[in-house]
Amino acid sequence: MASIFSKIIAGEIPGDIVYRDELVTAFRDINPQAPTHILIVPNKEIPTVNEVTEADEAALGRLIVAAKKIAEQEGIAENGYRLIVNCGKHGHQDVFHIHMHLVGGRPLGPMLYR
Ligand code: AMP
Repeated sequence: MASIFSKIIAGEIPGDIVYRDELVTAFRDINPQAPTHILIVPNKEIPTVNEVTEADEAALGRLIVAAKKIAEQEGIAENGYRLIVNCGKHGHQDVFHIHMHLVGGRPLGPMLYR
């Protein structure tokens, strides 16, 4: 079954998409933890970092290239931001389609806790 993020990427459910290319899609988190909270997601559904293979290197590298562009777009590049990838139960991963959180727009402190 397609993940909720695959459905957003496919346009089957709504998402506030801020960036899209042939490898990744980015949209605003539905429950933002900071003024800017965007999820950057490989278009290919990979459940967790544990399932990553070398064939995924281009898409996973693109997550960071996209993060840089989106941070500039959002006006938070100069002050900085945090990129987070959660994995599995102890990593507090809720959606099993790899995603990178781009969080910024305020000082974040040493760590984010939820
Ligand atoms: P994680 O705990 O790393 O798996 O993060 C999952 C994130 O997905 C959370 O920050 C949720 O707020 C966010 N999220 C869940 N459903 C949606 C949705 N339909 N649209 C946008 N963000 C979502």
